[in-house]
Amino acid sequence: MIYFDNAATTYPKPPQVIRAVDEAMQKYGANPGRAGHTMSMETAEELYRCRTAVAEFFHAPGPECVVFTLNCTQAINFVLKGVLKSGDHVVTSNLEHNAVMRPLQALQKRGVTYTEAQVVPGDNDATVDAFRKALRANTKLIVCTHVSNVWGIRLPIERLAALGHEYGVPIAVDCAQSAGVLPVDMQEFQFDYLCVAAHKGLYAPMGTGILITPHGASMETLMEGGTGTASISLEQPETMPDRLESGTINIPGIAGIRAGISFVKSKGIERIYRHELGLIQALYRSLSKMEGVQLYTPEPVEPYFAPVLSFNIKEANSEAVAQRLNAAGIAVRAGLHCAPRAHESFGTLQQGAVRVCPSAFNNMNEIRAFSNTVMKIHRK
Ligand code: PLP
Repeated sequence: MIYFDNAATTYPKPPQVIRAVDEAMQKYGANPGRAGHTMSMETAEELYRCRTAVAEFFHAPGPECVVFTLNCTQAINFVLKGVLKSGDHVVTSNLEHNAVMRPLQALQKRGVTYTEAQVVPGDNDATVDAFRKALRANTKLIVCTHVSNVWGIRLPIERLAALGHEYGVPIAVDCAQSAGVLPVDMQEFQFDYLCVAAHKGLYAPMGTGILITPHGASMETLMEGGTGTASISLEQPETMPDRLESGTINIPGIAGIRAGISFVKSKGIERIYRHELGLIQALYRSLSKMEGVQLYTPEPVEPYFAPVLSFNIKEANSEAVAQRLNAAGIAVRAGLHCAPRAHESFGTLQQGAVRVCPSAFNNMNEIRAFSNTVMKIHRK
């Protein structure tokens, strides 16, 4: 199989991630922070090592700001529902995943409003301007993706964070597609909330996500329960990360995050990005020569694009094309990619699109095989 569905979750996982998960299952099998016996203490130490590795990787203010979640969706929900109240306004973009749009839609029923700023690919000044114009006196948060999971478009998030801070508005960034592929520095970029899908660019197991924030102690909680700390009180503790991390944690998955970070660091983010973008650029050039293929964005170039590309074979339904590719041993995702607003902006809400997203494990031969298969499908 040629696997190009890495925007959904990366596959394969590096051997060191698989080993770390296996080791955690064997060595760290007791609930951390819940008991004083040796294995519980050792598991708590491993958890702390993982938290510290994440904090260092994203340059978080400290390990206590790192909250392990189920996925990026949960991290985004924690932020939006933990921060916003009736009467608040939010600025987001027109390229968001439903992980942002559905919580915002649900919050509308609780009196929160939002405005979508239009991202202008290749023109960061225009994008920042659109966000500036969308701000209102009652804007309490900017929430947006770092990279569109459909079109690979990069948002100028450092500038959007600076814009927010100029107006006293915090920013939450959905780094589901960028963490592990692009540099993400929480302090340098001045992010207030950073949401990560660890199972994607950090190569951790599915069911792992991260929220990083220095503001956790003042957030409303979405989930309350046992933390192993301050148990006499029925109130959720204010100390972080306990406040946002109730219940038994996914230690094997979290150990996988630490190993995934080591893998990314050993390859180098810059190298991973260049490798993957090079594959996507080659694919773009090859598809743009095929008459029957429709591409929607300009050629993916630095610094405006990340390695995600979507296209259609003209007149063909994207799902049908994905099925043909699957029959030829190539895994991609078609349809709307949980991002209907992003598709609507490019006129593909009806037919969807075929999405290709490489990982560090893909190579140019696979891109050539993919192009040849698309050509054959088109001829048929
Ligand atoms: N945000 C973006 C941009 C995504 O691409 C995805 C997943 O595809 C998510 C959020 C949700 O991530 P998760 O599946 O980890 O909840």
